[in-house]
Amino acid sequence: MLVLSMPPDHSISSLFANATRPLLSLEFFPPKQEQSLDSLRATATQLRAVQPDFVTCTYGAGGSTRARTMEVCSLLRDLELGPVMPHLTCVGSSRDELREIADDIHARGFRNIMTLRGDPPQGQTAFEARPDGLAHASELVQLLKARHPDFCCGVAGYPEVHPEAESADSDLLHLGEKIQAGGDFVTTQLFFNNEVYFRFVARCRAAEIDAPILPGLLPAVSLPQVRRICAMCRADLPSALADQLEAAGGTGPAAARVGLEWVANQIRELLVAGAPGIHLYILNRAEAAIAPAIIDCFEHLAV
Ligand SMILES: Cc1cc2nc3c(=O)[nH]c(=O)nc-3n(C[C@H](O)[C@H](O)[C@H](O)COP(=O)(O)OP(=O)(O)OC[C@H]3O[C@@H](n4cnc5c(N)ncnc54)[C@H](O)[C@@H]3O)c2cc1C
Repeated sequence: MLVLSMPPDHSISSLFANATRPLLSLEFFPPKQEQSLDSLRATATQLRAVQPDFVTCTYGAGGSTRARTMEVCSLLRDLELGPVMPHLTCVGSSRDELREIADDIHARGFRNIMTLRGDPPQGQTAFEARPDGLAHASELVQLLKARHPDFCCGVAGYPEVHPEAESADSDLLHLGEKIQAGGDFVTTQLFFNNEVYFRFVARCRAAEIDAPILPGLLPAVSLPQVRRICAMCRADLPSALADQLEAAGGTGPAAARVGLEWVANQIRELLVAGAPGIHLYILNRAEAAIAPAIIDCFEHLAV
């Protein structure tokens, strides 16, 4: 067991409860083993300029990637980017192992966990729970809250419906189960059309899911990249965005500018409509988050 040398993080639910302006969160992923952490450190250092309210780091299926999540979380914490939220999934771990991982995360002072079922590891097409493991994110929320009641659990929401869901209604029902199990807030899958977020929030509220719903946005860098990601997540790629990216050459700085302008427009509209903040899938790149257009969106709404 680690000896805690730093004070524990504030819970993100308390940030939402006390916020006087929309929150900004940034998502990192652990770089591949062979890559150095130096470029991630440089990116994260640049991002201090935008003063994110909290940052998160994804969790992979392989053992080495998992250790990297903690390594990246510690690095982000040293850089004082706000509370750091490791992601955790059910993939490949028994219940006992998940309890041990939870204890380790808690002992390191992290108090916020993005709580997920996870995608199947590479080479597998469907998610298969271990006989001694968990099948749904709601069960992981339950396990974490039972083990450490002071954990704040973020959970995933799908404005365009999770690809495996039987129906939009069943998906919403299962989101409600995650909140009932103790989920504190929802971060959405990425989307490029704000209407899907507005409709999703309305459906959640009608289903008495009252937790904050943080919209997740991806600053598109290139047309091939955004096509690949949309296919993976089953997110709609508006033809207007695809056409603009294509007209800008598809890839390169001009296309990235188009992606940035699109996401800045999304942010502006979402914040004006009362979204509680923005979660940016920055893919370990600083450019979008430090872009004046995006900083501007938040400054206009600061109290
Ligand atoms: C913000 C965000 C962060 C993410 N971070 C990561 C990450 O770090 N690592 C990673 O591997 N993946 C990550 N993902 C992807 C995520 O793991 C996948 O989308 C995964 O397929 C589903 O995870 P979940 O937590 O939403 O699962 P669940 O909430 O368990 O839902 C998965 C599917 O099962 C259905 N379902 C849920 N409960 C039940 C039930 N009781 N009975 C029947 N069906 C049920 C749901 O409708 C849905 O179709 C992230 C996704 C988001 C939106």
